[in-house]
Amino acid sequence: MKKYIGLEEMSNVNCSSVLNVIRNCGSVSRRQISDITGLSWGGMTKIVNKLFSHGYIVEEKDTSASGVGRTPALIRINDKKNVVIGLDLNREGFAAHVMNLCGEVLERFSEEVSFQGKEELLQVILRFTGRIVPGYKEKNILSIAVAMQGAVDAEKGISVKFPHCPDWENVPVREILQQEFGIPVFVEHDPDCMLHAMLKNEECENMLLFRLDRSIGMAASVNGEIIRGNGLLEVAHCIAVPGGKPCRCGKKGCIEAYLAPSLESGRLNEEALQELLDPLAVFMYNMMRVFHSETIILTGKLMKYRTAFEKELLNRFYQYCEKSEARVKLVEETELAVEGAALTAVEGAVDLIQIS
Ligand SMILES: [Zn+2]
Repeated sequence: MKKYIGLEEMSNVNCSSVLNVIRNCGSVSRRQISDITGLSWGGMTKIVNKLFSHGYIVEEKDTSASGVGRTPALIRINDKKNVVIGLDLNREGFAAHVMNLCGEVLERFSEEVSFQGKEELLQVILRFTGRIVPGYKEKNILSIAVAMQGAVDAEKGISVKFPHCPDWENVPVREILQQEFGIPVFVEHDPDCMLHAMLKNEECENMLLFRLDRSIGMAASVNGEIIRGNGLLEVAHCIAVPGGKPCRCGKKGCIEAYLAPSLESGRLNEEALQELLDPLAVFMYNMMRVFHSETIILTGKLMKYRTAFEKELLNRFYQYCEKSEARVKLVEETELAVEGAALTAVEGAVDLIQIS
């Protein structure tokens, strides 16, 4: 981390924090902005004027008709200008949300995809993104954030692996998209994006999220911060049953070895599901202990069949801890990853803001 920052950088940091205050408050007076940010009246005015001139914010019309004194004008985000794009690139299909800085989804896109290898997958990604970008050029696209399945190095913007694409290795997705579209790009692991979306809606800071498809994806937050790092929290081959079912990795008893057969060929296998419940409950409990989680979110394709196992899974989980220690929520939500990606894009865009 840099210790010293220059005056110009300081001004950009202040722009971001003023814009964040306005985003979080909905509408807010100049006095409140100065109070919340701790900026002087003069400093605040300078930044607010810059944000006005670049179209980030607008002044709200005074709707109170009575003439008792002058009501201070309120400022809010300009919802007609400046958008971001969130992309969810999943081997089953792609989805996108175009979002304004208020967090409102302006348009949704989705597409079934098929690809044979790396080059084709890259072309599909560029074509899908290229369908969206031209329509929003005029509104000004501030950033794109991508939720990627597989292994991701978010810091470097690299998609390390993508499921069912064996020659896809260490692909610099951030660089490729930035070059093609000339817009700042963020690349995130898809469970992190899902967790991001959940954190926005729940009053909870220590949260765990498991995406249960034919494999398991995991994300964790501690004190409201999502834990990130290349290769961290890749838990599919953690041993849940010593000497248990053989796994495709060559070991025995991995959690994935129990999960994969329960959704074989895209349908629920009841027998395999029954064998999954115990290992899954133990695994959830262990991770909850590691991360001091208050809430555990289960999501992914398996949730389509939640009525078949929810009660039994919870019974087994609460053999190990009290109900007051952690709550478990099963969420059947296909848009979590794309929503989280769009939110990541909004936050990234506000952090990057540079205006003179
Ligand atoms: Zn394994």
